[in-house]
Amino acid sequence: MNRFAFVCIGLSIALLSGVLAACSGTPSDPTQGGAAPDILTTSTILADVARNVAGDRLTVEALLPAGADPHSYQPTPQDTARISQSKVLVVNGAEYEHFLESLLENADGERMLIEASAGLRLRSDPENGHGVDPHLWLDPNHMIGYVENIREGLIRFDPQGAEIYRSNAEAYIEQLEELDAWINAQIAQIPPARRLLVTNHEAFGYFAERYDFTIVGTVIESFSSDASPSAQQMAALVDQIKLHEAPAIFLDASDNPALAQQVAKETGAQVVTDLHLESLTEDAPAPTYIEMMKYNVTKIVEALK
Ligand SMILES: [Zn+2]
Repeated sequence: MNRFAFVCIGLSIALLSGVLAACSGTPSDPTQGGAAPDILTTSTILADVARNVAGDRLTVEALLPAGADPHSYQPTPQDTARISQSKVLVVNGAEYEHFLESLLENADGERMLIEASAGLRLRSDPENGHGVDPHLWLDPNHMIGYVENIREGLIRFDPQGAEIYRSNAEAYIEQLEELDAWINAQIAQIPPARRLLVTNHEAFGYFAERYDFTIVGTVIESFSSDASPSAQQMAALVDQIKLHEAPAIFLDASDNPALAQQVAKETGAQVVTDLHLESLTEDAPAPTYIEMMKYNVTKIVEALK
């Protein structure tokens, strides 16, 4: 997808959120059970966070199944129907959900759009000219911003539930602050000189900023997993890993490990193939966002300490 298309998605989402937020105002009746949930989110991570804010008052489902990579997701006709039925749609934004544009064009009805990353400072990489970094959720402090945006959206959608959403959000933000403190304590086990990250695509920028890691390089030089490296880029990565003596390459469980394993063979780095960065898992080890972060951090500390 080219840059122009990125901009169009950003614009259409921005427009929709304004227009639909203004014309919405039909609070759901939480006592009315039905097949369609009150809130549809794109990713499973967003569904967990929205559930924490909505509590028992509204039902929440993710559009994508657990394990699906939102960067490269191919929507199905059923997805259009689910969007059409949705009353509230929670998206990450920040150029993450490229599949949404066609779905929103084809969907009927009106819905409130909540862009979880709205107003947050986005990392960009003007040198490579490939857009903005959507992976804010990998820093729990940015996730607090998501919670606040979702809380405000739900209050607009269902003003009578305002007190519930406020108190749920407050309790969850406290858990996110505890998670941040826990991560800091875990990271302290890694000697500062070994706080080096090599990943499949550029997913750890916000995480690295927050917890003082250096990004040595990525197999795919993109904020999306939906791209391929050149032989030249691969050779440069091998050089960077050797130069910094980076101990490990970290992949999402949905990534193809072939290229990383090739790099590992030339550098002696270990490949960790089973982080969960873009999606929760159905059961263990990452059924909630907080458990996902704890699992990833434990894996990173094990490989680097
Ligand atoms: Zn990603």
